[in-house]
Amino acid sequence: MAVRKANKSNILYLLYNSGDMTRLDISQKLGLSVTTVSTILQELAADNLVVDKGQKASSGGRKPSIASLRQDARFSLGIHISRHHVRLVLLNLSSDTVARQSNRIPFENSASYWEHVNELANEFMKANRVPKTRFLGGCMSLPGIIDTEKEELCFSPTLGIGITEAVHVSNLEVMPVFSSITFAEIRSHFTFPLSFGNDADFAALAERWYRKSDDVEVYLHLGSGVGGSVAADESVRALLGKKACEFGHMTLIRNGRACPCGRRGCAEMYCSSLTLTVMSGGLSVDEFFQELGKGNSSCKKIWDTFLGYISTVLDNIYQVFDRPIVIGGEIAQYIKEYGAPLYAKLQEIRSESVTNRLRVGNYSQFDSAVGAALRQIFDFLDSF
Ligand SMILES: [Zn+2]
Repeated sequence: MAVRKANKSNILYLLYNSGDMTRLDISQKLGLSVTTVSTILQELAADNLVVDKGQKASSGGRKPSIASLRQDARFSLGIHISRHHVRLVLLNLSSDTVARQSNRIPFENSASYWEHVNELANEFMKANRVPKTRFLGGCMSLPGIIDTEKEELCFSPTLGIGITEAVHVSNLEVMPVFSSITFAEIRSHFTFPLSFGNDADFAALAERWYRKSDDVEVYLHLGSGVGGSVAADESVRALLGKKACEFGHMTLIRNGRACPCGRRGCAEMYCSSLTLTVMSGGLSVDEFFQELGKGNSSCKKIWDTFLGYISTVLDNIYQVFDRPIVIGGEIAQYIKEYGAPLYAKLQEIRSESVTNRLRVGNYSQFDSAVGAALRQIFDFLDSF
């Protein structure tokens, strides 16, 4: 039975990764008999996970049937929580993005906040006509350190969780203080099953999957928080501690700006999207880039300073890891558009190797929600 189960999972993964296939192709790829493949495909068809896509045109003889993964057989919801936003992404079983949505809602650790997120998610799924029977549930992506044994988010300076005192991160915002939060508490406000994980890990997974990369890459998240992850197989990641790759709390400027983590001069205080709001005296990130696009000289100056900080962070990361670096998060899309000075700055500090091995992520602000939804799809494909 266990062997049959593993074969089922392997066939599903093969159709997921390679697209439509004939029974013969599947049997050859997996080293199984055509009879075994046929039996398993019948079982998968009975579960509505696989369909026969009719017959491939052929030049005479018996026409082979084509097995195809049913894209709408399951749907997976990714929910990314950040300081000011709740982002939702819906993927189908083939991991195509069905819909995505960004909502500006400041975080607070309260029942009403979580109930609001639950409502938004339910409305989102209703609008996209997700049948309850085909819904895999939600996977929530959280910024900060997760204690998997206690099942809680224990430390997240960007959300004000686990910090000791409120910090004026700017004259615009005081970071509130919240206690750690257990997954059970969050789940109690939701009407569907929820799993959890770290936002940078999910984002790194999404970018690695998109690129179909087998490479060990380092992922740098530049959003309202700054974080990171090593995008690699579980065996490589297992070597690292829970707090590894907290790039946002590397000291960038000694005795610099106060950080909610309790220290000073952390990279997050200089490289997050909120830094642009603070430095520009209150422009939202969208407004800032609209102004930059129009050639606003003060925004140009701020962007130049900002990219200077980022170039230092990239160089420091590179000196430690000597691996390609992927930039993701909200800022990634703007680096694609306005990032030319970043490469010049990397040249200035003689960091040619970073320049050559720098990749800008595909999903930008949605990377983490996509990764969370992907995680659930992989878990589903593994469950057979
Ligand atoms: Zn810090």
